[in-house]
Amino acid sequence: MNKPPLDTTNVIIFVGLPLLALVLVPLWGVYHGYTGTQWLWAVAFLYLNGMSITGGYHRLWAHNAYDAHPALRWFFAFWGAGALQNSILIWASDHRRHHRYVDDDEKDPYSASRGLWFSHMGWMLREYRSNEEDFSNARDLQRDPIVMWQHNHYVALTVFMNVGLPVLLGVWLGDVIGTVLLVGLLRLVVNHHVTFFINSLAHFWGRRPYTEDNSARDNDLLAFLTYGEGYHNYHHIFQNDYRNGIRWWHWDPTKWMINLCSRVGLASNLTRVPDFKIQRAILDTQFRRAHNKLDEGRDCETLRETLEREYQLFTQSINEWTALQAERYERKKEQLGGALEEHRQQLQQKWDSAALRTKLKTLEYGLKMQRKRLQLLMEQVRLHQAQMA
Ligand SMILES: [Zn+2]
Ligand SMILES: [Zn+2]
Repeated sequence: MNKPPLDTTNVIIFVGLPLLALVLVPLWGVYHGYTGTQWLWAVAFLYLNGMSITGGYHRLWAHNAYDAHPALRWFFAFWGAGALQNSILIWASDHRRHHRYVDDDEKDPYSASRGLWFSHMGWMLREYRSNEEDFSNARDLQRDPIVMWQHNHYVALTVFMNVGLPVLLGVWLGDVIGTVLLVGLLRLVVNHHVTFFINSLAHFWGRRPYTEDNSARDNDLLAFLTYGEGYHNYHHIFQNDYRNGIRWWHWDPTKWMINLCSRVGLASNLTRVPDFKIQRAILDTQFRRAHNKLDEGRDCETLRETLEREYQLFTQSINEWTALQAERYERKKEQLGGALEEHRQQLQQKWDSAALRTKLKTLEYGLKMQRKRLQLLMEQVRLHQAQMA
């Protein structure tokens, strides 16, 4: 089989550097040792790089999940360059293609259906056709002066962040070689692989509550390792949400950072997908599973009828919700238009919109209850099929 030629620079970076780290880091540890301060700095750099990729490259630039103050964008541009994962422009353009053509072997640059190794780092080692640059999906980024400045000065920037800064830090700490090995080299290699996990493991290992249309999975352990990006099944269906872990107890430090930034004026317009849509996605997936399960088995007419009834209720709720949303939108327009409203009319409107909110809440609650009923139904199906077997 003819494989495309190796990409020498990338082989040095992604194969050479880890090998170097594997030999030199322990060697220096044995013969000289590292201080606790050096370890702390390595972890600090790890998070600064990692979260500039997740919060900046990924959620801000690739997905426009929120707006960021220039100060924050410069910060992400510098520390993101330090992660040595290419410029924002190339990274985000690749990533948008990944979302658009997920699992497509020709067009998704790190398609999971080409295997775990390929999606982890194999895709970068050779000059595959799916890697060809095409910025037609990143015109907005090409208009962003910070993005373009970083793109044009990328090599100098990444050398400064990966070698210059650790050397300076080493001079200050009194051990240049040890600091460069730990804060420069080891930190870089670790951050590379945890980021790559999102393209590899997060497409193979975990649950799929929101959609089974693509290979992306939710995985708590991966979320812990990847600064919150492990809720990848959710992310692939609602990519513009600034959160990946949507519950308060989901480990998503990137979400917490963006939220904190918005409180101090560094971020704004944070996109949150309405809860109803999230519930709808979960239910939709459960209905599909239930249908498939019932198609397998025979003689469960009553269960099938119950499922059909539930499905009709579900469709009804969705239609009602859509209609209510449209009504709410119209209301808002009216309120903006009428500057000289009578006091009485204003009160009436307030009453109306409160009533509307209540209706929406009731619908949302209805879906939650339906989810519970569907779970019970699935248990019955399982029981029934076990009896038949
Ligand atoms: Zn993905
Ligand atoms: Zn994404």
